Amino acid sequence: MFEFCSLASGSSGNSSLLILGGETLLIDAGIPLKRIEERLLEKNISPENIGRLLITHAHGDHIKSAGKLARKYRTPIWLTRATHAEAQKLGYDLTDCRINFFREKENFGKLKIKTFQVPHDEAGNTGFLFEHGGFRAAYFTDLGALPERIYRDIHDCDFLFLEANHDVLREKTSRRPAQVIERNLSDQGHLSNEQAARIVERVVRGETSRKTRAIMLAHISKDCNHHVFVEKIIRAALQKKQAAETVKILLAPEGRCSEHLRWPLSAATAYLKK
Ligand SMILES: [Zn+2]
Ligand SMILES: [Zn+2]
Repeated sequence: MFEFCSLASGSSGNSSLLILGGETLLIDAGIPLKRIEERLLEKNISPENIGRLLITHAHGDHIKSAGKLARKYRTPIWLTRATHAEAQKLGYDLTDCRINFFREKENFGKLKIKTFQVPHDEAGNTGFLFEHGGFRAAYFTDLGALPERIYRDIHDCDFLFLEANHDVLREKTSRRPAQVIERNLSDQGHLSNEQAARIVERVVRGETSRKTRAIMLAHISKDCNHHVFVEKIIRAALQKKQAAETVKILLAPEGRCSEHLRWPLSAATAYLKK
């Protein structure tokens, strides 16, 4: 049984709940701890039941409450050495926390996890593939580009969580400082809607024997994007693969929980447009 819900997504803070293979994980803790607690309780999940906290990278919108949460609930933190070093450099307090460093492949009980290093500012970022009993969920947010070597691992995954940060024209014509715009558009920045759509086209197998049933687009910029743009471009990408009728598009909102996804999809046939 797979369950997934974004508790928050965007530049003001990110956190996601993922349940698979008997593991209850929180990915990132970039919103105030109180909000994480409230949003978990909305789902009848006690924060004590979070078995592990996975951190993608050391930006405040992903890590700022990690130490607090881990100390209060004794939740083990998983992150890369580079993220840990960067967190220390930037002053995110992870003292008295149970710190574990990711290897490329991890087994958390029955849940298999593959970690991927993706380009995003100096210390990079970690993407994930979660696997259990033939079910595969891929998770990628905050990356300038998806390295070629990753496609093979995530191809035809059942669920894809993917950043669609900005519309390129809106980003270019925004009032942001020139170097922020340049960084966001670069390979060290964030994925544009267009990049996300090209990734979707390659990940979704399309037409026959396809597995992908839902894609959630994330980290959508408030200033330089709009949910309507994201949905339109992703729908067009799915149409190219003749998969628009069978793949549910979801958008992760910034300040509240997303739709709560529950597999198996037999219980969620409402997603499939007849
Ligand atoms: Zn971020
Ligand atoms: Zn970031």
